[in-house]
Amino acid sequence: MPERTVLNGGIVLSLDKKVGNFSQADVLIEGSKIAAVGPNLKVENAEVIDASNMIVMPGFIDTHRHLWEGILRNIGTDIPLEGAESYLAFVLNVLAPAYRARDVYVGNKVSTLGLIDAGITTILDWSHIQATPEHTDAAIQALQESGLRSVFAYGPVWYEAPKREHPEWFKRAAKQYFSSKNQLLTIAWAGYGPEFNSIEGNQADWKLARDVGARISVHVGVGTFGKHGKVAEVGKTGLYGPDTTFIHCTTLNDTEIQMIVDTGSTVSLSSPVEMMMGHGKVPIQRFLDRGLRPSLSVDVETNVPNDMFTQMRSLISLQHALLFDRKLADEQNLPPFLTTRDVLEFATIEGARANGLEAKTGSLTPGKEADVIMLRTDKANIFPINDPIGAVVWGMDTSNVDSVFVAGKALKRNGHLLNMDLNKVRGMAYESRDYVVAKSGFKLPPI
Ligand SMILES: [Zn+2]
Repeated sequence: MPERTVLNGGIVLSLDKKVGNFSQADVLIEGSKIAAVGPNLKVENAEVIDASNMIVMPGFIDTHRHLWEGILRNIGTDIPLEGAESYLAFVLNVLAPAYRARDVYVGNKVSTLGLIDAGITTILDWSHIQATPEHTDAAIQALQESGLRSVFAYGPVWYEAPKREHPEWFKRAAKQYFSSKNQLLTIAWAGYGPEFNSIEGNQADWKLARDVGARISVHVGVGTFGKHGKVAEVGKTGLYGPDTTFIHCTTLNDTEIQMIVDTGSTVSLSSPVEMMMGHGKVPIQRFLDRGLRPSLSVDVETNVPNDMFTQMRSLISLQHALLFDRKLADEQNLPPFLTTRDVLEFATIEGARANGLEAKTGSLTPGKEADVIMLRTDKANIFPINDPIGAVVWGMDTSNVDSVFVAGKALKRNGHLLNMDLNKVRGMAYESRDYVVAKSGFKLPPI
């Protein structure tokens, strides 16, 4: 019989409409799976975890983050996306070329710790640091060690023309690490996308990914690069589909937004980054008006915090601000305001969908994998709980994340990361950061 654990007597947000949410219920985990959700489950022969001061819910899901930048946290908070002094100029063209395989490992290691700490159980690592196969091995090693459910999105580097070997290197990684479907790691292709590659280059990319059954993830509508109709041009060749995720989409035209919707593609919005760095206007309403619900992503820790609380609050605030502005201008028949439940779904089940994992994760549904978090309700920042969903979206932060389980395995308990020597990782982080900064000649921002 598989190991059984019951999370007892918590406020349970299954976020599955058929299962429902409960002011008090139990969640039974059997092996790697959720076996049952409901009040007063009669369970024998199980480890009992008291959840009476907890909200129990599915783990958060981030659909696009460059984990290798974990050692560059907050390095560019006053620097925009484009221009002479910009993220594109210094992170992708100055710092990235200095990375050894070891630095990719450490960047990923740091970022995965932050993910677990923040209650994120599934991550898409958009890893455009694949300078050599050793860089690939290093990134994957850190993902494997983390215990997280991860999509490794293989991306060629952006500081030089793509090497001829990339398709072979990608296929080697797919074969070596991803031949089993029954594991925490899956593979995707992190392509340059329509704005940074030729039509033929894009066709080759989509084919390469589909040949190994990988999803495709691309940045589009990226600031001024998004203003030339390239997404429509490439899209007319029939490449897009439900296996494709479009990130940002901030400066796309209406034809392109509609094309993404019509092809059943998924979308990843990183609204804090998009607003602060100048990607363009976050297209949340344009997608909602067309019936597409987005997923959320942190994107770059060079600029923004690593948690989904920030993501949810940023997006719902923005959508409300835009709509209230229209209301104040006396516009009639406005679309609905996003609710807290909406953005909580964006941060969970919509993330699962965009990562191609909705059959496995994103809600507390019996039969799905047990990717579960427990959020403390007895901390000074949150009691009394009057509206559990409102509390998660607006009242909580990473300090409320008590426990994190991925496929039934505990990665964080009682507020502490498990099996982790934080001092050792911190030492590695400074060593790698110092090396990359010195090698690149980049100057850290003055105090
Ligand atoms: Zn990105």
